[in-house]
Amino acid sequence: MENNLEYEKSLFFEYLDIYLKKRNIDSLKKLLSPSITCFGTGIHEKSKNFEKTLELYRQDILDIPSSIEYEIKSLNINKPADNVFIVWSEFDIEAFVHNHKLRLNNLRLTLVWIKYENNWLIEHMHISLPTNVHEEGEAFPIKEIEDQNKVLKRLLEEQTKDLNKALSEIRVQAITDRLTQIFNRIKIEEVLREELERAKRYNTKFSVIMMDIDHFKRVNDDFGHIVGDKFLIEFVNLVLKRIRKTDYFGRWGGEEFIIFCPNTSLRKALILAENLRKIVEDHNFNMVGHRTVSIGVSVFTAKDTVESIINKADKALYEAKNKGRNKVCAAKYTQ
Ligand code: GH3
Ligand code: MG
Ligand code: MG
Repeated sequence: MENNLEYEKSLFFEYLDIYLKKRNIDSLKKLLSPSITCFGTGIHEKSKNFEKTLELYRQDILDIPSSIEYEIKSLNINKPADNVFIVWSEFDIEAFVHNHKLRLNNLRLTLVWIKYENNWLIEHMHISLPTNVHEEGEAFPIKEIEDQNKVLKRLLEEQTKDLNKALSEIRVQAITDRLTQIFNRIKIEEVLREELERAKRYNTKFSVIMMDIDHFKRVNDDFGHIVGDKFLIEFVNLVLKRIRKTDYFGRWGGEEFIIFCPNTSLRKALILAENLRKIVEDHNFNMVGHRTVSIGVSVFTAKDTVESIINKADKALYEAKNKGRNKVCAAKYTQ
């Protein structure tokens, strides 16, 4: 810096002293040109006139009324004309805001001073904080944007993963019976509909086994509902051990269950049903001892609908009950 700019330099330090140390708006006001314009660090801190500039300074002092320490990092003063000089500076500040230390490094301040008669006044002020978003050699913060995109992408991936997990859980719940964890009626009906179409198209067969626990009401009456629930779970596990992986086992209603057996003839389904009846009869259920089940079996024929197959199995089950329970009955076929 030229030696003969010492006066201009002293004016700049006077400004810093009034603005940062004394925080005195009235003294500051005397240094501002009536046509001052300015930019502050905040996005809304901009002004094209004296009143607004003063308001911004006032707000600044109001936010931090106490003295602010500063340390000049670099300073340059240009005097392109006799009545103009420009201060270009970098400095750090340290202030206390609500008992918290606030430190801002490398603040950039530009002041344009103009001489009015014998008085130097600030014509333009621009203070800014450098951001670290620009990588070296970048004119725009491309790296920063890329990094943000990566973070957003990762967040989105995590959320999508969570949503997909929740969705698959909901899908499982939608087809599962809450108590026994086997298929619910909705799922069994859906599978039956699909298989019926397949059976008609490819001329395959399938059977349906309907089971109803005998005198289950007595289990509830004698041991309570909770024991009744546990009985149902135990019954389900017993059946699960015996049926094939390809069979669909579902809860049709309260103590009524259905097994849908693809590629299974009536003869084979009856064997399975008899087997299950026997296994249940022989099993010693926890708390409630020996219980029995009645079973009705039907097989798919060309004219069947889902309703008619279920109906036939239901009728057969009714017959098993009528015959004294703990029985397996086949549906009647007239053709
Ligand atoms: P049947 O031999 O004629 O089938 O007689 P049942 O007593 O088994 O038949 P009924 O239809 O009279 O009674 C069925 C009972 O099953 C009544 C109902 O309270 C009970 N029930 C239905 N769903 C549940 C359940 O989820 N848990 C328990 N604990 N009981 C259930
Ligand atoms: Mg029953
Ligand atoms: Mg029943």
